[in-house]
Amino acid sequence: MAANQKKSRFSLKTRSLAMLLLGLAVLGLIASSPCTAAPVQDSLSTGSTRNKLLLISFDGFRWDYDRDVETPNLDKMAWDGVKALYATPAFLTITSPSHFTMLTGRYIENHGVIHNMWFNTTTQEKKQYYMTQFVDSYWDNGSLPIWITAQRQGLKAGSLHFPGTAATYQGETVMVRQVEPHFYDHSNESEWRLNIDEVIDEWFHQQDLDFVSLYFGEPDLIGHTYGPDSPERKEMVRQVDRTVGYIRDKIQDHGLTDRLNVIMTADHGMTTVLRSGQVEEIILSKIPGFSFKDIQFQLLDYGPLGMLLPKEGMLEKVYQALKGSHPHLHVYKKEDMPERLHYSKHPRLLPIILIADPGYIVNGFFPVHFNKGEHGFDNEAMDMKAFFRAVGPDFQSDLMVGPFDLVDLYPLMCHLLGIKPEIHDGHLNKSKDMLVPPTTTGGNDGDPGKNTHMEVLIGLSAVMGFLVLVFIITISYHVCKGNKA
Ligand SMILES: [Zn+2]
Repeated sequence: MAANQKKSRFSLKTRSLAMLLLGLAVLGLIASSPCTAAPVQDSLSTGSTRNKLLLISFDGFRWDYDRDVETPNLDKMAWDGVKALYATPAFLTITSPSHFTMLTGRYIENHGVIHNMWFNTTTQEKKQYYMTQFVDSYWDNGSLPIWITAQRQGLKAGSLHFPGTAATYQGETVMVRQVEPHFYDHSNESEWRLNIDEVIDEWFHQQDLDFVSLYFGEPDLIGHTYGPDSPERKEMVRQVDRTVGYIRDKIQDHGLTDRLNVIMTADHGMTTVLRSGQVEEIILSKIPGFSFKDIQFQLLDYGPLGMLLPKEGMLEKVYQALKGSHPHLHVYKKEDMPERLHYSKHPRLLPIILIADPGYIVNGFFPVHFNKGEHGFDNEAMDMKAFFRAVGPDFQSDLMVGPFDLVDLYPLMCHLLGIKPEIHDGHLNKSKDMLVPPTTTGGNDGDPGKNTHMEVLIGLSAVMGFLVLVFIITISYHVCKGNKA
């Protein structure tokens, strides 16, 4: 009897120990489950793999450039996909800053690529757009472009000629890249086709990349040279349209139509420059009370934006001399910049910021550029708005949507790629309507703290954990009771 009782107690202990271990194992599994711990994966997935994404920028393609030119391929893309009335770029509406906003989802004052030009106010050194591409520290100052984020989450990314491609970010570069040579011919249609072949044939098809950004330097250049209303600009829009057709045919030829989303947009628009004879130009050296002797460093003669660093103790004098000096010149102390422009907080911005009204240019000593078209103006000006098209398996078809901000493109792209975004200034809910409604509840919407899918899973895990705990306590209670008996 005693021996039987001992045996019975022993087996009961063994069983309860086994139960306890099982319970702990279940708890351990719940705690380490990707549902509660890992960043969101493959947000659009319904068990299948994510779709690929191609981001294309046609520099300076204004929102309404398709209105006075026949654009059959752009029209077809709108029927097959989504067209937005226009996209509003972040301010400053120029190439490098605006493209880096697309890549990071941050306003320019937050990502720090504040201008096309790199400069050093102490040494007076300046680097033009092309050379600035190779100054790593200019680009790599806290905000990660989407290529690096995608790569860190297991995806393969590439970039061809897109601003920021040449730089290294926290020790990493975009995996597959092509940086254009100096003095590259950005307008050559044959070159464009070779670049498209490389991206579609080699990068997406052969190398199986997940995300590629592709840049074309037109119709920006032609818009500067001949003006946005010129026949040359219209001809370049036809070239862009043919290129859109070529891209879509290539995608089809490689069987990628159902696996590749394509987003096509631009960094800014273009407006006609008003010249002497038509208007009184803004020339700082002619302004009474203003002297270049009071200035330590200046960034002028670069479109409608000027920045000044006055010498020690001269800020108020310079500011007072310039303020109200020209009816189309807005003069701000950096900290007084309108908040909606999001262009005041970065330490690289100089203490006095000058912004000219659309059509006007901020000249230093005398006009040195004679562009017929220009950009860089307030992003509320309609001429600064960019075009937008998107097509692919995750986009609705024949859908026209209202305007949206280019800062919202980043969370949309992260959502499409199923990657967890970095901290950003955009909102996915403003661009999400373009997408085919999800068939499951899965999804990372790119807005931190709004992931209901995650919340449900965490809740379920907590309930399961609680039930296991109750089970263990009940078993333990019976063991103790058995021991006492
Ligand atoms: Zn330009």
